[in-house]
Amino acid sequence: MSDPVFKPLPPLSTIGILGGGQLGRMMAMAAAQMGYHVHIYCPEENCPASEASKYTTTGKYDDTAALVKFAKSVDVVTYEFENIPAEPVAEITKYANVFPSPQILATSQHRVLEKQEINKMGIATAPFVPVSSVGGLHEATQKIGIPSVLKTARMGYDGKGQFMLKSVNDIEKAWEKLGGSELILEGFVDFSMEISVIVARDIKGNIQCYCPVQNIHKNHILHETIAPAPISEKLATEAENIAKKIADGLNLVGLLAIEMFVTADGILVNELAPRPHNSGHWTIDAAITNQFEQTIRAVCGLVLGNPARLCDARMLNLIGDDVDDWEKYSGEKNAKLHLYGKKETKPGRKMGHVTYLITDNR
Ligand code: AMP
Repeated sequence: MSDPVFKPLPPLSTIGILGGGQLGRMMAMAAAQMGYHVHIYCPEENCPASEASKYTTTGKYDDTAALVKFAKSVDVVTYEFENIPAEPVAEITKYANVFPSPQILATSQHRVLEKQEINKMGIATAPFVPVSSVGGLHEATQKIGIPSVLKTARMGYDGKGQFMLKSVNDIEKAWEKLGGSELILEGFVDFSMEISVIVARDIKGNIQCYCPVQNIHKNHILHETIAPAPISEKLATEAENIAKKIADGLNLVGLLAIEMFVTADGILVNELAPRPHNSGHWTIDAAITNQFEQTIRAVCGLVLGNPARLCDARMLNLIGDDVDDWEKYSGEKNAKLHLYGKKETKPGRKMGHVTYLITDNR
C-alpha cells in the first residue's frame, strides 16, 4: 500500500502501534499531544501503552486475521518492538502503510542479515560467522578466534541468548546452552565505549539525527545514557554519517536506533532497532523534538522536527526495585521522573527512568 503521494495524516487520524510496552506508551503520549488517536495491538491485557491510548486490541502477533482487522481500522501502522513475526506484518501492508517497512523489521530481527546488510553498505561490524551445528561452531572459532561471543540470531535482547567464549573449553558449553537455534559467532570487540545514534528519515528521504550518546550497561541492561557522548567532534560526525548512510541504505521511513562500539580502530556497528530506543529517552526532556514525536512525525508524513539538544542530560534507568525510590527521584533538582505504570516489579524489568538536565546550576 505504499503510496508515492503519501499526504500528511491530519489530526484525529488513528496511528496503530504493534506492542504495548513503555515505548508504545511514550509514543502514544506524543501522538495525543499532536491530536492523533492511537490504537495499540498487543498480546497482554492492561499494558503500559493502553493507559495512554484511545483503543486497544488484545491479540497474538501471529494472528493474521486479527492483525488485518486492526490494520483496516487505522490510518498507519508502526511498532514499538522488533520481535514481532515479520510475515503477518508484511501481510497487513495490503491494508495500511507500515513504517518502518516489514523488510527493515525482518532485517533487524536477524543478527546475520543485519550485519550482512550493514557490511554491504561499506560499514564495519564485528567479524561474524553464521553457526548452525556444533561442527560449524568449532570451524567458526577457527575463523573468528577466541574470545568471541556466540549469540542467537533471533530474539536476543538485554544480553539474553548470548554466551561469551573465553577458551576452547567453552565451545561445547556454549553449544549446550544455545545450540538448536540459528546462531552467530561474533569476534569479541575490545571497545572503549558503547554509543548509539538515533536517526529519523521521512518518506521524501529527509533525515534528522540525534547526537551520539554514551550507553553504560549493568548486567547487560542499559543503566545510564550520557547525552552527548564524551567523544571527539570527528568521531561524533563519523557516527552520525554511519547512521545517515544506514537510514538511506534501508530506505527507512520512521525512526532507527543504531548501537555502535567505539574502538581504537574506529566505529563498529553492533545492532539496529527500527523504533524509539531506551538510549533516546533523554530527548523527552532535553531535545527540541523528542524521539517519540519524531517517530509520529515520520510515520504520519509530517516534516521532521528539530532534534537539537536543549541542554546536556543524563538518563538513569529504573530497573526492578530501583523504582521503590520514586519519591526520592521526584524530589531531586533538575530530575524528570518517568514511570511506566507497570503493576508488577520484577528483577531486570524496566519500570521507569529519570532524566537529569544539566543546566549550569539554574
Ligand atoms: P547485544 O544484544 O548485541 O546488544 O549485546 C548486549 C551487550 O553485550 C552489548 O551492549 C555489549 O556490551 C556486549 N556485546 C555484544 N556483542 C559484543 C561483542 N561482539 N564484543 C564485545 N561485547 C559485546
